[in-house]
Amino acid sequence: MRNSRKFWQAERLLHLALWLAATCTARDAGLHLFEAVEPHMGTLVRIKLYAAGADQAKPAFGAAFARIAELDGALSDYQPESELNRVCRTAIGTPVAASADLFGVLAASRKLAEETNGAFDVTLGPVIRLWRQARRDRRLPDAAALREAAARSGYRKLHLDTARRTVMLDEPGMQIDLGGIAKGYAADAALAVLAALGIRRALVAASGDLAFGDPPPGRRGWTIGLDSPACVLELANGAVSTSGDEQQHLDVGGRRYSHIIDPATSMALARPIGVTIVARRGVDADGLATAVSVLGAERGLALIEARPGVAGRIVTDRVVASTRWPGARH
Ligand code: AMP
Ligand code: MG
Repeated sequence: MRNSRKFWQAERLLHLALWLAATCTARDAGLHLFEAVEPHMGTLVRIKLYAAGADQAKPAFGAAFARIAELDGALSDYQPESELNRVCRTAIGTPVAASADLFGVLAASRKLAEETNGAFDVTLGPVIRLWRQARRDRRLPDAAALREAAARSGYRKLHLDTARRTVMLDEPGMQIDLGGIAKGYAADAALAVLAALGIRRALVAASGDLAFGDPPPGRRGWTIGLDSPACVLELANGAVSTSGDEQQHLDVGGRRYSHIIDPATSMALARPIGVTIVARRGVDADGLATAVSVLGAERGLALIEARPGVAGRIVTDRVVASTRWPGARH
């Protein structure tokens, strides 16, 4: 008797599962791929999504891009009146209230700084600005200027009060630069906006920082192609970030200087390294890709392995992949 009741229960569950599968397929069959690209955060942001029609897709693109524009207004160090730049001017020795977005990115940055012993450091803004100018001038920054800028940096001079959601900086002239983590956060946020509108099969790519939800209909994941060496990943509900020096760099005296700075020396990385991180959230993938670039292959791999649910591939003169790397073993 008990067994037969179990049997009926199991069969009812099976029917339910089959019915769900059938309705999902029926619903998916009516989905179409839509794609849009807009300039945001100093780069091009591409969104791919599956929707029933243009009536659903168009406002969804609008809302997702508006969210990214809102985040740029909070997190940009290029926009003089961004929330970040206002905080840098006013939070010297005084706690200043921050939006949930700015505080969230600063808190993730501060945690990563502690975990990497300062290899990832968003207070490096003064040094990063000198290197940006150096790229424009096509010559190395002045050593004395670098020392002076480094003296205004250091993550221990950034104080966050989680209960009050306030930010305080120790010294005037400090500058926070979220370029190594903000795009991943923005990709997550745009994806969340789409999900809230009922669009779960979507991918947001802010240049090298991707966040994606459920896979395209009938597929196990989104196909993500990596270069040098070529590798194809098929992933859903996660994020992938790549850091490298292909796009922004300075060539002087036969050396190529990256846009990533080693806080220990204030020098731009001059050894070639390309890092790809797979994580659950874009904010983690983005921050870690930059951090691992600074740490180098050995210490970088140790950091990746220590983070649950994170995988990575590091390309220097050789290719190493972490144990959880989802691609072929390179
Ligand atoms: P990504 O392309 O995500 O690796 O970020 C590179 C950007 O991160 C640079 O253009 C700088 O704005 C910023 N950055 C450079 N070096 C560091 C560092 N050591 N820690 C945190 N951010 C950095
Ligand atoms: Mg990054």
